[in-house]
Amino acid sequence: MEEAKKNDEISIYLQDKEYIANNYVLKCYAVTMLVYMVACLLNLMGIFVIEQQLMRNAFVPSALIYIVVYIVARFVSLSNTKLKYFILFCIILMFTISGVFLTYHVVLVMLLPILYAVLYSSKPVIRYVLILTIISTIIVVYGGYYFGLCDANMVLLTAGRKSAYVSEESFLVSAINSNPGLFLMLYFIIPRCLIYMAFVAVCSSLFSIVSGSVERARLTTALEKEKEEAERANRAKSQFLARMSHEIRTPVNAVMGMNEMIIRESREENIREYAFDVKHAAIELLSIINEILDSSKIESGKMEIVCADYNIGSLLNDLYNMIQVKAREKGLQLIFDIDPSIPSDYYGDDKRIKQVLLNLLSNAVKYTEQGTITLKLRCRVEDSVAVLKYSVLDTGIGIRKEDLEKTGACFSRFDTNRNRNVEGTGLGLNIVLQLLKLMGSELQIQSEYEKGSEFSFELVQKIVDQKELGDFRKKLLEASERVVYQTEFIAPRAKILVVDDSQMNLKVFRNLLKKTKIRVAEAESGAQGLELLKQQDFDLIFLDHMMPGMDGIEMLHTMRDRGLGKGTPVIMLTANAILGDREKYIEEGFDDFLSKPIVSEKLFRTIRHFLPEECIEEQKKKRNADDVWDKIPEINFEMGMTTCSGDKEFYFELLQDFTELPIREELNEWLKGQDVKNYCIRIHAFKNNAYSVGARELGNLAYEIEKRTTEKFPEDIEEMQERLLLQYDSICRKYRAIMGSKSTQKD
Ligand code: ADP
Repeated sequence: MEEAKKNDEISIYLQDKEYIANNYVLKCYAVTMLVYMVACLLNLMGIFVIEQQLMRNAFVPSALIYIVVYIVARFVSLSNTKLKYFILFCIILMFTISGVFLTYHVVLVMLLPILYAVLYSSKPVIRYVLILTIISTIIVVYGGYYFGLCDANMVLLTAGRKSAYVSEESFLVSAINSNPGLFLMLYFIIPRCLIYMAFVAVCSSLFSIVSGSVERARLTTALEKEKEEAERANRAKSQFLARMSHEIRTPVNAVMGMNEMIIRESREENIREYAFDVKHAAIELLSIINEILDSSKIESGKMEIVCADYNIGSLLNDLYNMIQVKAREKGLQLIFDIDPSIPSDYYGDDKRIKQVLLNLLSNAVKYTEQGTITLKLRCRVEDSVAVLKYSVLDTGIGIRKEDLEKTGACFSRFDTNRNRNVEGTGLGLNIVLQLLKLMGSELQIQSEYEKGSEFSFELVQKIVDQKELGDFRKKLLEASERVVYQTEFIAPRAKILVVDDSQMNLKVFRNLLKKTKIRVAEAESGAQGLELLKQQDFDLIFLDHMMPGMDGIEMLHTMRDRGLGKGTPVIMLTANAILGDREKYIEEGFDDFLSKPIVSEKLFRTIRHFLPEECIEEQKKKRNADDVWDKIPEINFEMGMTTCSGDKEFYFELLQDFTELPIREELNEWLKGQDVKNYCIRIHAFKNNAYSVGARELGNLAYEIEKRTTEKFPEDIEEMQERLLLQYDSICRKYRAIMGSKSTQKD
């Protein structure tokens, strides 16, 4: 299809070219005849010395040829190549006739425009012109001499003025003189042919300059047209993506929300494990959608760098939390080598910087089988700005030299055979390059195949606070503390209205808020929402963006027009990532927006921010959690908290459950029965449980057993299992000692 279209375009273009060439020739032909006529008139008036009879003899056949050409051109399409050759032939014929009857110099002047036009054509045509010119010159000279049809020069020569041109003394010359054929060849044909050839060559280069600019102008118009077309297609693509994004995000929101309920409420280990898998897959799906959206956003020039003050410590913390889970799953060591003396606060777009680093770090994890992933940060302070040099190093598969130049092109993936099991769209690096460009930076890549890679870039950022960053890991704990604190509240007196056309979404929303005891009123349409608002007041309103009938924005405007919900903050819930720009919603009159899928932590934070202070009751901590993570060194609290999105209460439920697993009995049973399959399933689940609560070493041990027990039990299985159980028991004992709980576990 594509190929055929291209061929069509080429043939249209070529035809077009023929048309232009022939048009030129005809126009120039007309000019020539005009010149000819003027020459005739001047001649009649006695200004020209050419004999009138001779001129008439030349003009009449030339005019006849001219008329024939015009008649033919009327019946044959101007884009016909054959017509061009016919015209050419006629031109040469005219040239010969007028050459015979008139002087060559007059002919030459007359032919100038014709030759210009002729030479617009291709190389073969020039060759054709040259050959015909030579032939016609021979005819003119010999015809003039032998048949008495004489041109003006020949008249001069035959009238006995030959001696003025030739010296009689030279032997060679007298030999030539005695042979008129040779004489004509040497003195007339060869020099004239050479002159004509030079003339053709000069015309050719002159015309190629003229036609070149004509062609360029044509191409520019064609390119502009194509660009316009491409832009139109791109706009259509962006609209399609925006729509698709909404269509995909809405059901994913429901899936994730319901899944969150399963994770929270299910007591069954297996089910919870499946739910975690669903969660990971959904997060992966969302990240792919986001990548595609970002890429199209950058392409359409909609991606903007929004600068604000940020703390580099929290940026690094977030990154560490996001990437460490992935690194740990692959058994990779993650090192954040951060210069503690760098200033702590800057002015810039931390969201985009984080995105760039996250892409590079995710790639490092994806393309590394063993070893370490390092994020290095160094800084040079120059007055009030800092030049931050970020480097992401890995000990992975590296990139081949020949592929290095291609990195960053959209959808390019290398070593596809080797990487066929690695998920990816080939957009990540392109997004990184584009974002860095927007921030005035450039990505440097160094890589050695099979050894590893280094991706680095420098960012110039204005310093907001010169205070040294110090140990950023400590800040991580502080930050997670803050988050946990923020989500621990109940607000039984608060009333929230949520309007969403999807039953599923309403259910997710209701369930997420269950533990805050907030009263939630639900409406499935804008009209229903307005009705509820007429009947009662709310403390906070959440409106879905896309709804059949009245959408969220329209509902807000109607509310404001009718004076409903005065002073009540309204939050937009949107699955539309492309249009989800904060400014846009604020402009429409919303107080904030939350993008779907709803992240519980963000929801709580928003509610807490907008609910009146008197509605909020701080929740007393059920357990003194801080004691636990200090006193069980085998457990990495930060890691566990990441799994639970910072939900401390949920984390302790998980930890409690973890210490009550009948793992010893189960493993022993499968081992005794030599049931490798079930043993593996159990140990796999246990590994995930351990990682979920932050028992990293225990998880690694389980992973080791899982890896070695794929088909049969290894010889040292008992010893390994014992090590695992001892460590597990130690954790359980410490936990129970702190909590003082009466454990149900039977050891
Ligand atoms: P993908 O989604 O495929 O990872 P990217 O644009 O992020 O797309 O990367 C493009 C390609 O560059 C990858 O498919 C991979 O072949 C190569 N690549 C990127 N980062 C690394 C790395 N750290 N080590 C080795 N190869 C890499």
